[in-house]
Amino acid sequence: MPELPAAFKKRMQAQLGADYDDFYVALSGDVPSSIRLNPKKIQTSPFEDSTTIAYHLNAYFLATRPSYVADPLFHAGAYYVQEASSMLLYQALDLSKDLRILDLCAAPGGKSTLVASEMTEGSLLVSNEVIPKRASVLAENITRWGYGNCVVTSAQPSIFGKLEESFDIILVDAPCSGEGMFRKEPHATSHWSEDAVETCAIRQKEILTDVLPCLKAGGTLIYSTCTFSPQENQQVIEWLLEQDDSLELYPIKNLEAFGSKALDILGVSKGGYACYPHKFQGEGFFISRLRKKGELSARSKADKEGVSFPKELEAYLNLSDDVFQNYKLQEIKGNQRLLPKDLSFLQEGKVKIVQAGVELGKLDNKHGLRPAHGLALSNLIGEDVPVVELTKEEAQRYLLKEDLVKAAPIEKGWVLVRYQGVNLGWTKASQGRLNNYLPMNWRIRTQLDNQ
Ligand code: SAM
Repeated sequence: MPELPAAFKKRMQAQLGADYDDFYVALSGDVPSSIRLNPKKIQTSPFEDSTTIAYHLNAYFLATRPSYVADPLFHAGAYYVQEASSMLLYQALDLSKDLRILDLCAAPGGKSTLVASEMTEGSLLVSNEVIPKRASVLAENITRWGYGNCVVTSAQPSIFGKLEESFDIILVDAPCSGEGMFRKEPHATSHWSEDAVETCAIRQKEILTDVLPCLKAGGTLIYSTCTFSPQENQQVIEWLLEQDDSLELYPIKNLEAFGSKALDILGVSKGGYACYPHKFQGEGFFISRLRKKGELSARSKADKEGVSFPKELEAYLNLSDDVFQNYKLQEIKGNQRLLPKDLSFLQEGKVKIVQAGVELGKLDNKHGLRPAHGLALSNLIGEDVPVVELTKEEAQRYLLKEDLVKAAPIEKGWVLVRYQGVNLGWTKASQGRLNNYLPMNWRIRTQLDNQ
């Protein structure tokens, strides 16, 4: 059990009253392990000791924490390891229409991958992270997840604010004092202070003020944190409602059925929800949903015209209506990319784009396509590409960047390798060998002894 800062303990005792002892005991308990499946890649949990999570269609608790690094399915983006209370977001979203969604504080990508799995093919997700190093991790996780209608950006909230009325949904999973992570990351207690909570609350208000102009009338704002602090949770929402009368609370129904605590905000019941570890199987979390008054305008459909693909690319892609409708082909730094058509509003607004759509690879007349890793992991890859299914041991060796001696369906050329039906990456068949084309920065860098 971490040593709790005295001022935190005192505040939580006041906040929870008689429940404080149970809260304290829960903080010393085990951290539940949970995963959320990628529905485009697998449909059932790959782990035997899984139990379903009631509030998310594709999520599971695992009785024991597996070695994710040794599991090829983890590297293939078949599931995301996500703390369970964060998955309550699923209950707050209606993604049945084509929408533009901004995940403003997105790294490492837990909420973004949740949204990407649920949104329509005609929607666009902009996953933003201000800190460049974290934006790279986010981009890697988005590539692994395989959805083409995602863009990773790295811009300050105020840059988005200038794109007036552009998004139907904005998620602000705000940087916070992290009290809800004290069990999972005990060292977080050493960064905590009352001043840090105050600083976080000021920053959260700034972030919301800066980004809000880009929410459309009729659009939805979801604000969440991983702290128990009312100052960073309900008080931020109260402040926001007092500042901006175009916003109203838009309560999420029935989250208390899953163990979270419904909170009154300015007299509105269920204005927010808090998760405490003694009541909810997960870490600390707060979520609130608001709406900007007005009618949401329907998103105009992109046209199907103007997209054609060179023969060498057609063989690699699943050229469904979705692709013609929503993507265009563009060469960027010598690489072909399938880009969501709806990008110009970001470019015009000078939002720094880190990555967009799917990297297809380098194309030249002599050698055809040298396919990119992003294409191997993409859900838009075609079904006629030659593939070889690997055993777990072979898949691990592939991910350690070893070549494989293995028969392939073609004698020479590009072959996808798979594990349990999920694509891992490219090899090139030649003389009975599969030469390994996994990019160096995607390889496993640790020893996998008997895992
Ligand atoms: N949504 C992420 C997920 O589910 O994986 C977790 C986001 S984390 C709670 C908050 C993020 O906000 C961090 O990645 C942090 O770098 C970013 N951040 C920090 N300061 C910020 C600021 N001033 N404006 C916007 N984002 C900020």
